[in-house]
Amino acid sequence: MSARAQIGVTGLAVMGRNLARNFARHGYTVAVHNRSYAKTESLIAEAGHEGDFVPSESMADFVASLERPRKVVIMVKAGGPTDAVIDELVPLLEEGDIVVDAGNAHFPDTIRRENALRAQGLHFVGTGVSGGEEGALNGPSIMPGGTRESYESLGPILEDISAKVDGVPCATYVGPDGAGHFVKMVHNGIEYADMQLIAEAYDLLRQGLGASAREIGEIFAQWNTGDLESFLIEITADVLQHVDAETGRAFVDIVLDQAEQKGTGRWTVQNGLDLGVPITGIAEATFARALSGSVPQREAGRAALPAHAQAWEVKDRDAFIEDVRLALYASKVVAYSQGFDQIAAASLENSWDIDRGAMARIWRGGCIIRARFLNRITEAYERDANLPLLLADPYFTDAVGNGLAAWRRIVAGAAQNGVPAPAFSSSLAYYDGVRAERLPAALVQAQRDFFGAHTYKRVDRDGTFHTQWSGDRTEVEA
Ligand code: NAP
Repeated sequence: MSARAQIGVTGLAVMGRNLARNFARHGYTVAVHNRSYAKTESLIAEAGHEGDFVPSESMADFVASLERPRKVVIMVKAGGPTDAVIDELVPLLEEGDIVVDAGNAHFPDTIRRENALRAQGLHFVGTGVSGGEEGALNGPSIMPGGTRESYESLGPILEDISAKVDGVPCATYVGPDGAGHFVKMVHNGIEYADMQLIAEAYDLLRQGLGASAREIGEIFAQWNTGDLESFLIEITADVLQHVDAETGRAFVDIVLDQAEQKGTGRWTVQNGLDLGVPITGIAEATFARALSGSVPQREAGRAALPAHAQAWEVKDRDAFIEDVRLALYASKVVAYSQGFDQIAAASLENSWDIDRGAMARIWRGGCIIRARFLNRITEAYERDANLPLLLADPYFTDAVGNGLAAWRRIVAGAAQNGVPAPAFSSSLAYYDGVRAERLPAALVQAQRDFFGAHTYKRVDRDGTFHTQWSGDRTEVEA
């Protein structure tokens, strides 16, 4: 076996197969391997003509077919399977070789694997890949971690096969060890928030206007020509206008209203709690899916709980649609602002030095949250790389400020009319919380001191204090 392949892919299910084809279509000689050989054979039979593939049945032959330093992309089921493949692969590799895990690994696993492989003189590059099977084939957004040194030889190949927006690749070096998979996780969390916000906007339009799914689809198509232009808005317009062939009903009406999750939303929320970063948009979106799947609770709630609300009476249809649009945009900015805060906090904690503007730039194409307004986020971080709050960038302060009255009308209307809008309303609550002169956290801290002697700080002088609540209530310095 001559070592002539420039890159290898092991794991040839839908993602790995398409990624391998993408490499081949860009002129790379691609070594391909899969645990069961049938998938390798099927790739060669169906797409072998697209480029130069080197198929191998055994891992040893696969490794032997690669030029040094070897670059091996693992694209298998995340978790145990990734470890199993690494265990089989690593003894066959030599110092300086690069192992790329392009699956959806949880970033602590990536940190562990990177440590283990670094100790053996290998580069381990945990890489986020977004865009589903279509992106993998035609250009995904790629978020590689690992060493900078590994990016020097691997990066140009990844940039080559990534999506391009205005000629700029949607791939860049993210940061050491788990940084790439971390950023992919937050991307997915933001995706949850974005989808939930769009779903709430749809529900508000449906309940407020009594409009049909098709009509709302047309509204979304219209929105997709402005600031909200994005892949998710575009597919929403498409989905809402789709008719079920069997019943002739709107497709959205024949789908069971119980949303599932694969776990990245949950990881993002868990990490937000660990870091103490309020990612309320992502959390509400994750919990909204959980509520949708809480079947016994929903049955009991439907049977027992009154609404004490009337049908929504919207007087001015166009004004209402514009209100929902503005509220959606503002809530979306909050969700992204929170997600970028989470990246900043993790970057600081792990010394990853992640460039948030660059992350927004590589999310402009290829991935599920690709959107016009990511340009605005990149520009905001170009103006100030250390921006403490995305919402405080002048562009977003204006954009959200212009829609503030509409946002309040919509959230108030939803509450009054009994329409659940958890992500809209929690985003507005975050906005009001983060801009508040003073928060009732003062009372919470006082309560904590009362029952647990947790101490407090004063607004008027330095130091830490405790009041002797069960004694004579004098204050002592703690
Ligand atoms: P998948 O269904 O997650 O995994 C199937 C692949 O894993 C097959 O090649 C299978 O080999 C291999 N595999 C499973 N257990 C293995 C083991 N113990 N040892 C060796 N190989 C094993 O495939 P996928 O949907 O293409 O996704 C691949 C990765 O990309 C996953 O980590 C996924 O989370 C991530 N991802 C997926 C998407 C998406 O839209 N699907 C998007 C981004 C990222 P056999 O053929 O031999 O069973």
